[in-house]
Amino acid sequence: MRPPLVYHPQYSAPLPSTHRFPMGKFRLLVEHLQRLDLARPEQLHQPLPVPRRWLELVHSRAYHQGFARDQLEPAAVRRIGLPATTPLVRRSWLAVGGSVLTARLALQHGLACHLAGGTHHAFADYGSGFCIFNDLAVAARVLLMEGLVRQLLVVDLDVHQGDGTAALFAGDERVFTFSAHGANNFPRIKQVSDHDLPLADGLEDGPYLAAIAAVLPDLLDQVRPDLVLYNAGVDPHREDRLGRLSLSDLGLLQRDRMVLEACLRRRIPVATVIGGGYDDLNPLVERHAIVVRAASEMGAFL
Ligand SMILES: [Zn+2]
Repeated sequence: MRPPLVYHPQYSAPLPSTHRFPMGKFRLLVEHLQRLDLARPEQLHQPLPVPRRWLELVHSRAYHQGFARDQLEPAAVRRIGLPATTPLVRRSWLAVGGSVLTARLALQHGLACHLAGGTHHAFADYGSGFCIFNDLAVAARVLLMEGLVRQLLVVDLDVHQGDGTAALFAGDERVFTFSAHGANNFPRIKQVSDHDLPLADGLEDGPYLAAIAAVLPDLLDQVRPDLVLYNAGVDPHREDRLGRLSLSDLGLLQRDRMVLEACLRRRIPVATVIGGGYDDLNPLVERHAIVVRAASEMGAFL
């Protein structure tokens, strides 16, 4: 079986051409996957914008309405690093809706991939580092509220710490947060996840994979989640502009295979999001396709 993929044509909201966030990557990613025959029409699912009541399971009304109406203080907008234009507000609502949909599809099918998502630097009252709303946090809270899951595990392998996610679920035992990240990378002030794995600059494939493999199986066996939410950020890649680690393409593929297999062989469903990645668009899109390739190989487990 091929995994369901969640995508919306409005994910790539226009930004000023000088902006450093690679917003075009979402559209290019789905096109790239289609060329590789990894995204057939029957696999694609289109989300709706997140309803306000779901957003407010995580974010304060003052914050999310302030953002949507472009009424945040200039310092708060600078901290996000993206302008609150109408298309950007809409794509932000859609992307959160997309992660909720991906999590639901993962529960139904065992595995599902969002071709966006992973905005893990967003907190309840403010955004940061190109992250406006914490999509995986909203997905977790919606599924818990609906009684579809009792226990979740967030596996965040984006090279930056999932600080917003860690803070949002501190003291909430229903969502176990695991973040493996560059110890010396953004955010400068780290939060406390349920399990943090800080990594040294320049780490290469072998030691990186060994470090994850030493932690993940035990976490799955201890936490016994009903669903894993996997941030497959590609910024640990050696060519990434912000990453500071030294993974190869093959290293990322082996990482994603390892995570998906570890979950699926335990019959734990997985929802993936693409997370961060910073490079020229073509190599970047090829890297974000890796997790979908790995997911497409998992048919035997589904
Ligand atoms: Zn990142």
